Amino acid sequence: MPNLRVCALFRPLNSKEKSDHGDSVCIRAIDSESFIFKDEKEEESEFQFDKVFYQGSEQADIYEFLAFPVIEGVVKGVNGAIITYGQTGAGKTYSMEGPSVIDSDEKKKGLLSRVVDGLFNIIKQSDEMTKYTVKLSMVEIYMERVRDLFDLSKDNLQIKENKVQGIYVSGVTEICVTDSAEALRSLSRGIANKAVGETQMNMASSRSHCMYIFFIQQELKKEKKSGKLILVDLAGSEKAEKTRAEGKVFEEAKTINKSLSALGNVINALTCASQAKANHIPYRDSKLTRILQDALGGNSQTALLCCCSPSPSNAPESLSTLRFGTRAK
Ligand code: ADP
Ligand code: MG
Repeated sequence: MPNLRVCALFRPLNSKEKSDHGDSVCIRAIDSESFIFKDEKEEESEFQFDKVFYQGSEQADIYEFLAFPVIEGVVKGVNGAIITYGQTGAGKTYSMEGPSVIDSDEKKKGLLSRVVDGLFNIIKQSDEMTKYTVKLSMVEIYMERVRDLFDLSKDNLQIKENKVQGIYVSGVTEICVTDSAEALRSLSRGIANKAVGETQMNMASSRSHCMYIFFIQQELKKEKKSGKLILVDLAGSEKAEKTRAEGKVFEEAKTINKSLSALGNVINALTCASQAKANHIPYRDSKLTRILQDALGGNSQTALLCCCSPSPSNAPESLSTLRFGTRAK
């Protein structure tokens, strides 16, 4: 698939992993794009990505490599998506939000804060004749229902399509933001609502997909152009068996699995379509891929960050995450 960048990220070992296995890790770096992975049977395989962020990588580097090119496109009217994939605890939300979207120290800031800063910086530097409008919405997909994170009473939104916006979530709250600080305040409100919603529904955030949607419109004289940027913090990719799931938890796991497979299938179909064209791209197989439809494929820019624990104790899940990433390429 053209315009797709796939990276792997290994967060630092946590204290549980250190107490179980000391400092040992299941990867051995070859260079900044490839490494050897050792699975639980000590079998080794080599992986290659567009970039590998090893333990101790800087959040700023992830932004520069993965997100900045996408933002540059969006401001020119090219849609983009930045997606974090991986098992629960692998570092998806930390990569997206950092410790917090507001007031994180410069080093720890996540992709969202940097994306918002980058976006408004480019807008500020652009010619003064062009008028920009930035609208922000936040939704969560849980059990194939789309909920508005700026208004929790809207908990089953429909996805529609029109000429101006392309694919859009009908009736979702859109907040017009005029600068970086305002955007971050809104994001932080949505993130706080995520927690409120979880309590109300007795659901863990790791079981839902969270989407941060920026719609950027520019107007020069009579000409209008728009670009869409969707950041996605996916639900945990771990297998249901591992958690010995029953009842509701099992249903959740099945639904997640279905939508993550749908995402994988769409990306694969797009990769093949560039060779064989005329392929049917199965966007409608999940709400996730349907909302992402016009931010994936075409001339859109897509970035996929495959987040992994470097610990041998998580090797099977990390392997499955890395395979998802390499299949996408
Ligand atoms: P996920 O969203 O994939 O379930 P989180 O992002 O919540 O996982 O990360 C799990 C834990 O690991 C958090 O406590 C987080 O602070 C820590 N963590 C994740 N990534 C990093 C990182 N790059 N550097 C330091 N700590 C991290
Ligand atoms: Mg998370």
